[in-house]
Amino acid sequence: MDHERPAYAEITEVGPRDGFQAEATFIPTARKIEFIERLIQAGMPRIEATSFVSPKAVPQLADAEEVMRALPRGHATRLAALVPNKRGALRAAEAQVDDMVVFVSASESHNSKNVNCAIEDSLKGFEDVVRVAQEAMIPVHGAIATAFGCPFEGDVKVAQVGEIARRFQALGFAGISLGDTTGMATPPLVEAVVRQVRKSAPALTLGLHFHNTRGIGLANVMAGLALGVDRYEGSFGGIGGCPFAPKATGNICTEDLVYLLEECGVRTGIDLRRLCAIACDVEREVAHELPGQVMKAGPRLDLHPMDSVRAAVG
Ligand code: ZN
Repeated sequence: MDHERPAYAEITEVGPRDGFQAEATFIPTARKIEFIERLIQAGMPRIEATSFVSPKAVPQLADAEEVMRALPRGHATRLAALVPNKRGALRAAEAQVDDMVVFVSASESHNSKNVNCAIEDSLKGFEDVVRVAQEAMIPVHGAIATAFGCPFEGDVKVAQVGEIARRFQALGFAGISLGDTTGMATPPLVEAVVRQVRKSAPALTLGLHFHNTRGIGLANVMAGLALGVDRYEGSFGGIGGCPFAPKATGNICTEDLVYLLEECGVRTGIDLRRLCAIACDVEREVAHELPGQVMKAGPRLDLHPMDSVRAAVG
């Protein structure tokens, strides 16, 4: 390997955006604000707090301005928000977000399904976002959906992901995040795509956004670590499903991710116990079981009195 395992990894919590937008019911604004405040207190370095999409398209996040206005500022946590177009960028700049996140799919069919236009049109549209962001001195990060495979087209060409990354760099973005939208990434694919993106866009910070749809989300994180990648995204409790497989898991779970990283000697600066408590309260709020595991089992050295359990065989 030509990269060392990082000593520190920056985690982005995407639950308040990616997770809550996938819920059938609207999470009350006050509860959203409370969860984000608690994430800040738990030491989360970056949070995707909301999305400045059209409230008609995503009614679950129609309170973006209200949420941003109520959040405390002046702490170490960066508050990012998704921005689909110039109009969203103007709203996000007004709300003084710390990072704007734009997104495009690596496959044409997913991009047209998701945002109803060609990849090239999405990339052109980002020029307006960049102008607004630069004026407001807010960094822009580009997210690539279906970077490891497309539910409609299957394998996505690694060169295609590299080309979009190159365009992101040319647009003056600060960073790139590779999204495994429907959980099609595998460790060899992670290696191939990460190497290509580094070659195509060496100036961009690189983050990985895995889904656990097929149960190997954290194995993919290990592949990223072996390549020296030091930015990962997760959602509390693993909230946020896979739109193409109703019972499947979506985002990897932030507590499980933090647990894994810390046990591997990669610091996150996050208080795992507090994070687990937040995830349990999110589970109560959404009123259905979440796939997170460390939130249920606790860290491995949480010991139990011997007479508290019946012996199990096998
Ligand atoms: Zn996701």
